[in-house]
Parts: sequence; C-alpha cells; structure tokens
Amino acid sequence: MAVALRMSSIYAPTLKEDPAEAELASHRLLLRAGMIRKTAAGIYSFLPLGWRAIVKIQDIVREEMDAIGSQELLLPIVQPAELWQESGRWADYGPELARLKDRAGREFCLGPTHEEIITSLVRSEVRSYRQLPLSLYQVNMKFRDEMRPRFGLLRGREFIMKDAYSFHSSQESLQEHYDAMGRAYARICERLGLEYRPVEAESGQIGGKVTTEYMALADAGEAALVYCECGYAANEDAASTVVVRHPSVTEPGAMTKVHTPDIRTIAELASFLDIHEHDTVKTMAGKLEDGRLVYFCVPGDRELNPIKAGWAAPGVVLLDEADFATYGIPKGSLGPVAPPSGTLVVADASLQGDVSWGIGANEDDHHFIGAQPERDFTVAQWADLVVARPGDGCPTCGGVLAGARGIEVSQIFQLGTKYSVSMGATYADENGDEQPFLMGCYGVGVSRSMAAAIEQRNDESGMAWPVTIAPLEVAVLPLNADGEVFEVGERIWRELADAGLETVLDDRDERAGVKFADADLIGWPFQVVIGKKGLAEGVLEVKDRATGLRVSVPLADAVAHVARLVAEAKAALAPVTLHP
Ligand code: ATP
Ligand code: MG
Repeated sequence: MAVALRMSSIYAPTLKEDPAEAELASHRLLLRAGMIRKTAAGIYSFLPLGWRAIVKIQDIVREEMDAIGSQELLLPIVQPAELWQESGRWADYGPELARLKDRAGREFCLGPTHEEIITSLVRSEVRSYRQLPLSLYQVNMKFRDEMRPRFGLLRGREFIMKDAYSFHSSQESLQEHYDAMGRAYARICERLGLEYRPVEAESGQIGGKVTTEYMALADAGEAALVYCECGYAANEDAASTVVVRHPSVTEPGAMTKVHTPDIRTIAELASFLDIHEHDTVKTMAGKLEDGRLVYFCVPGDRELNPIKAGWAAPGVVLLDEADFATYGIPKGSLGPVAPPSGTLVVADASLQGDVSWGIGANEDDHHFIGAQPERDFTVAQWADLVVARPGDGCPTCGGVLAGARGIEVSQIFQLGTKYSVSMGATYADENGDEQPFLMGCYGVGVSRSMAAAIEQRNDESGMAWPVTIAPLEVAVLPLNADGEVFEVGERIWRELADAGLETVLDDRDERAGVKFADADLIGWPFQVVIGKKGLAEGVLEVKDRATGLRVSVPLADAVAHVARLVAEAKAALAPVTLHP
C-alpha cells in the first residue's frame, strides 16, 4: 500500500550535534536522524522511521524463510531454568545469560537464543520420522548481557533476531535444508544491499562443526576475514592456511644453549640472537583432561589459534598462570627439547623441513639455537596451528589470501544431536526405534543488519539507505511552505503515492538548507526538489542520494521519472542467488 507521510507529523527528533557516545557512523547517524534512542546500555527504542526500516528487513527475511518452507511461530522470551539445566547451558552460558526469579522464587532466564525452548516444544509433539523434516522460525527480541555492549545496534544487549531451527531424520536432509538456508541468507544479504561474504567459521575438520557466517564487509567490523579470488573465505579464527616461510638459516648445525637473561618475548629474543623473528619458534602449553601437557610450537612471528589447538589435541585447555606454577615449567622459556615426561609436542606444519630452530630451553633465561626436529626432539604431530593472515597461502587453490574486516550479520549451523541427546528429544524411525533428531539452527541479526547496511552506505552528510529497506522511498521538498511551490509539491507527493511509492512531503516551514540537510541525514533514496525558479521553467530537480546525481525533469514527467528510478534501484538489489 502506498504510504504518504508529512514530515511535520513524523516523530523523528533529529539532533544537531553528533552524540558523544557514538564512535561508528551507523550509531551516530541513527541517533542523529531520530531513528533510535538509547534507553540503557545496549538497550534501544526504535522510533517510527527506524522501525519502518526494521519492519522492511523483517519482511524480506520472512519472505525468504517462507520460500524455503520454514514456518513462522513465536516463542517466549522468558524461559524456565529447567530447560537450560537439561541442556547443560544454565551452567555453561555464563554471565551473558540474564537470570531472574518469579514471585514464587522459580528461576527463569531471558532468551539469548531459543534452542532449548524449541527442542522442548518439538520433542513432546513430533513422534515419527514421517513428520520430518520440520523447519520453524521466529522474529523476536533476544537478550544477552554482553560484557561490552557498544556501537549502537551492532552489539546491543537487547536486539532483534530471526532465528530458525530445523529437525531431521537424516544427515542428507539436514544438509539439504542447511544449503537452502545458506542460499536464503545470501539472498537476504543481497536484498538488503549488503556487500558481504559467506565465510567458513570453523572449517570441516573431523569432529568440527559445520557452520557459515555471513559477513558484511566494513572496516569497523569486529571480525577479521581472509579470502581468495577462488572463492575461499573464512573467519581468521577458523581459517585453514598455508604459511609460506622463508627460513634464513637452513643449514643444520649443532644445537647450542645460549644464556638469554631477561628475554621474555620473541621480539627480544630475535634481536638478542640477531636472527629474524620467523626463525624463532615459540612454544605454548596446554593440558589434556588426563593432565598430560601438550606443547604447541609455532613460528615466532605467528599466533597460535586456540581453535586449531583444540582440533589438533581434542579437549586441550591452554595453561593459565597458576598452571605454570603447578607444573613447574618456565612460561618464558618453553621448548620441545626434553619437556616433562608424557608431553605431546604438536608443531605447525609450516615448520616441517626447518632444521634449525631457535627455541626455549625449558630453563629460565636459556634458549637453544640450531635445534633440529627428530635429532634433538620428537614432534608427535604436525598440524595447521596458526591464526591465518593476509599473505598466507589459500588452502583451496594455493593463491594468496587477502584480508578484510566484517560484521557478522548472520550465521547458519549444523547442530547435529547436541540438544536432542542432552534433552532427550527423539522420534521413532522406520523400524520403530527411537532416534535423536538431527538439528540445525540459523540466525539473522535483524537490528545488526540495519546498522551494517548504514555502516556500508553513509557519507559526511548522513545515511544513504538501500531502497529496499529505506524508511520511505521518496521525499518531496517544496522549498516554500506555501504558495504555488508548495501546492505543486503537495500534488506531486500525492501522485507519487498514487503510483505506489512510499513518499514523504517536507511540509515544514524551514529554510531550504535545513530541508536539504535533513533529507541527506535521514537518507531518503530519492529527493524531489521544487523551487520557484525551476517552476517558472516548468521543471523540478530529482536527486539520487546514493550517487548525489541531480537531474532537472519537466513537471509533467516527474512522477514517471521517479517511479522509474525507484524501480531501477530495486531491480539493482534483486537477489542474484537463486532458490533451488
Ligand atoms: P557475536 O560473535 O557477534 O557475538 P554470535 O555469533 O554470538 O555474535 P549468534 O548466536 O550467531 O551471534 O546470533 C545470530 C546473529 O544475531 C548474529 O549473526 C548477529 O547478527 C546477531 N547478534 C548476535 N549478538 C548480537 C548483539 N549483541 N547485538 C546485535 N546483534 C547480535
Ligand atoms: Mg554467530
């Protein structure tokens, strides 16, 4: 339905000054344009214009979910503790889970996500494989008591999420729906006008999880990604990588112990020994459940990736300060030569072939140089251990990885039987045997997506909304508040609405400069400007906010012209990813 609003009656209290607390453009501009207001740290009210954009995002998300056969429902925000105790997350979730008691003293939490609720709902109703697969979704508020709520809607405590959950009787069925979700998520990003990349969040290691994150590219993003022209892309946390090393010392020599007083860091060590940081090897220690130590050796100029450490040595936990004392090992001088008995040495694959390592000597203030694997110490396992970074080799094609920063706007996840086993959610298979459901979960950050879109589309004057989610599509700015200019403006505004466009008339008695500034700040995709001078010549001006392009258009053609621009802008954001 066409929408025609008057600027004078829209509740959008704009701010003249930049709010001090806002570091990022999206946060600053949404506040300044009167689209959101902070109620408490990480808790926001959505004002009418901001809410219009949110509703449009929700509509897009709903269309895409409905198209792949997911059904909408609504789950409670307040959730009984018992369900979380069953899954084990009452204890595991930590302080992000906001807990409360009712008047009878019963414990509840505010849902940060809804696996427990949906599993309990489905386990008592779905009995047979014939009722599967089943996919359900909701659009709802989430609450996570984030340690550092910041950047406005990007990391709130209360935020809007679309979350979907699916239930299957076979891995093939789960995979099929996961793939359909992936395509739907790509289409959502495309329709929101986001420049994005789907990235591997944890690569398909055995026992690893199958999950993909959708990253809106933005310098302000908290996530670091690496990607390759071949299409490979991954979160730095999880990226497999081929580290190309150029050791300058390759001739085997004797292993020599060197006194290195007060040397604690790799930089200090390299400069003390007068070798390159990448010719040193640093060793980090972890412990297994049975108490055995694991030493992880990585090139001195690289960081150990704790996720990969876990892949190499399942269950390993990196040592904390107290552990070093308990084990009686020197934190600053660890090395693979003669570690405590039973210690497993795992070394980064890029070190394989290097025959002269500069390493800690397991003795305070001492290091070895010229240490050689297999001659001086044993490596139990060579593995990919380091945090990937731009410049590394692509694990898929061998090309060179590039880097980018991203905002995680959504994520899809194959849960397997994690919740169905812990919560006893089973169905009867063809033979009548009880089996745990295979599950998937899929989340879109609705409010975060709105902020991410603005993060990608703004300039010094304000926001430049993608037309698909703009609060309204067209603003009509008559530069006089009465007389012929205003009358023509009002007429064009009505005609635009009759043509099916969402239109706002700036009917305020304000100077032209104020109207222009507000229009650019709010970021209406198209502005129709009507002034005395143009009118005398029978023309008005149409401005495209995104490109800044202004064209003079004959009055009689104005409505058709603007309708065409809006249609073209929408077509440009039509999804390129096809449903199956
Ligand atoms: P992050 O790593 O950024 O904390 P997450 O991986 O914990 O997010 P998920 O559990 O995957 O988040 O939730 C699904 C989606 O919900 C995320 O992709 C994100 O878009 C959104 N989201 C998560 N936390 C927040 C938050 N604090 N504020 C706004 N949106 C959020
Ligand atoms: Mg996530």
